[in-house]
Amino acid sequence: MPPGTAKVFVITGPSGVGKGTLIGQLLKRRPELQLSISATTRDPRPGEADGVEYHFLAPEEFDRRVAAGEFLEHAAYSGNQYGTLRSEVDRRIESGHPVVLEIEIQGAEQIRETMPEAIQVFVAPPEPEFESLKARLVGRGTDSAEAIEGRLAVARHELAAQEHFHHQVVNDSLEHATNQLEAIVAPDLSESSQ
Ligand code: 5GP
Repeated sequence: MPPGTAKVFVITGPSGVGKGTLIGQLLKRRPELQLSISATTRDPRPGEADGVEYHFLAPEEFDRRVAAGEFLEHAAYSGNQYGTLRSEVDRRIESGHPVVLEIEIQGAEQIRETMPEAIQVFVAPPEPEFESLKARLVGRGTDSAEAIEGRLAVARHELAAQEHFHHQVVNDSLEHATNQLEAIVAPDLSESSQ
């Protein structure tokens, strides 16, 4: 693939839907794909290294980079900031590598504006999972009816967002979902790598 023409694939979906595992499988099958390393203000988990899983930044440094326009998208999630650095994506595209972004939904919505040519894939949980979330929340009996309704409203809102994306993959089984994801990206990968 000539430099500068490689594609960007955005893979998003609700938290806990298994995007990471699915992308891991995809990268094994299509090793020419490169995962963009995001920046975050959260602390590294045991075993995570700076520049490998994430670029771990202090909040002030993250804000400085936001102000300098260094992010393609950024979002607050669970009390921390996460974002995709333009430099991470650009250098891969320039060297002819297709890029995968694994990001949450608000960030993916921004990419639609900042990089409309990116191919967007929404990973959705299988339908029964929504029912089991409801059952779990009701069953544990610790949340008020309002709190449960609030959590379910967030889950419903996230699922409704999937219509904004080009492709939907239901993560019903890892094998099946990986096949679907591979079928989505394959037409945009170079001939030589298929
Ligand atoms: P974790 O802290 O578990 O690694 O990630 C939390 C969430 O942040 C996940 O849904 C993950 O996909 C998302 N995330 C990771 N990197 C980025 C990023 O660069 N931008 C956005 N918007 N979300 C991200």
